[in-house]
Amino acid sequence: MSISKNKRVEVFIDGVTTQGWGVGHIDGFAVFVANAAIGDTILVHIIKVKKNYAIGKLLDIIIPSPNRYEPDCPVFSQCGGCAYRHITYDSELNIKYKQVKDAFSRIAHMDIKPQPIISANNIDRYRNKAQFPVGFDGELKIGFYAPYSHRIINCRDCKLQPKEFTTALQVFDEFLLQNHIPIYNEKENKGLLRHIYLRKADATEEILACAVINGDALPNANILAEKLKDALPNLKGFLININKSDTNVILGDKCKLIWGQDYITDVLCGCKFRISPLSFYQVNSSQAKMLYEKAQDYASLNSDDILLDLYCGTGTIGLTMASKVKKLIGVEIVESAVKDANINAQINNITNAKFICDDASNAVKKMIENDELPSVVLVDPPRKGLSPELISTIAAIKPNRIVYISCDPATLARDCALFKTSNYTVKELTPVDMFPRTAHVECVVLMSKVQN
Ligand code: SAH
Repeated sequence: MSISKNKRVEVFIDGVTTQGWGVGHIDGFAVFVANAAIGDTILVHIIKVKKNYAIGKLLDIIIPSPNRYEPDCPVFSQCGGCAYRHITYDSELNIKYKQVKDAFSRIAHMDIKPQPIISANNIDRYRNKAQFPVGFDGELKIGFYAPYSHRIINCRDCKLQPKEFTTALQVFDEFLLQNHIPIYNEKENKGLLRHIYLRKADATEEILACAVINGDALPNANILAEKLKDALPNLKGFLININKSDTNVILGDKCKLIWGQDYITDVLCGCKFRISPLSFYQVNSSQAKMLYEKAQDYASLNSDDILLDLYCGTGTIGLTMASKVKKLIGVEIVESAVKDANINAQINNITNAKFICDDASNAVKKMIENDELPSVVLVDPPRKGLSPELISTIAAIKPNRIVYISCDPATLARDCALFKTSNYTVKELTPVDMFPRTAHVECVVLMSKVQN
């Protein structure tokens, strides 16, 4: 049977894409379908045919997969946030495990058997940060973007976010309407309010609220602060973030404090951490603890070690390990995160840590020039991973162990293959489910030098 646009076809789903879409085959031709589950037999409407694949819209489930269950969110089928609200958590974990294993065999040509995936105890309301886009098209919309689009799907009570965020959105909703605040229009780069940005520290329950605006001031911001304070007893601060640029980037680089303080404090792995609005902080605190413990286990540190924490954010990973080593050096490119990292060292009475604000590659090159050579290197880069140059520079330091934390199995596999050409091989790999119900999976890898 040939496939063509607008055809309706029956298809059995036998795989899943890295975005969480179901994959079926018609005469060997792949069809991708959102919200389909492995094991489903479904009726699809073919909406796009490309050279190597087609995209279908799920019309009807003819025989449901045994792993299916009723999605417990009214906007699941429209929202771009969750990918796996229609299957059991066990089958989600199996998919993620296989994705990691497959990335290594497909991209790195390495046959690796990952350790069992570290699953999460809480698969709902685990996030400590949300950035809700705000729009107006006859009605006020606050929620999340539809997949691959900037169409806002109204969602005021996201199952991944703490309940307090739902309360905060109610306050914003009333305030915006009562005060006739102009809502940002992306196409025209006009209007004022762009995003509502909320953070909550898991351990202390402190909350920070922020309005991201295309302007310098939010009318009646003090009234909004009062209303937020009344509704959220644990609110520690309310800020505005100024973002006048015509881009997809959510936050501008300037914040103005309206009320309270411009940070919250969390406790993770026994350390206190100050979190400012512009600094990176792991979004799932309880799973971050599991991740950091595994990283520490892989690093197997001793009191002679010099630990380099590259892409250190607010210093969290390294600081939780600082008491084990002689010296900790953290490197991070965002200035406010480095400032937080230094404060974090201070508030935890850690005196053997230094934090450098620089690009990771530059910093490592300078360390070689200064003969300041770490014995263990930990990297936790953004999704795009490491540059080939940085990989060979790290290998040139000849650390005893390299611990690589990654939120993208594909770039991780690519980089591990490059480390292999520099004589570092993967000893062990553990996937960690940091983002239940979404298509993302985190990994931590231990590499060590090949003994010649
Ligand atoms: N390890 C930290 C943060 C990881 S996120 C934690 O667990 O909390 C990745 C961090 O890398 C971010 O803080 C980002 O600002 C930083 N970063 C991005 N590009 C960088 C570069 N070229 N050099 C150094 N740091 C960089």
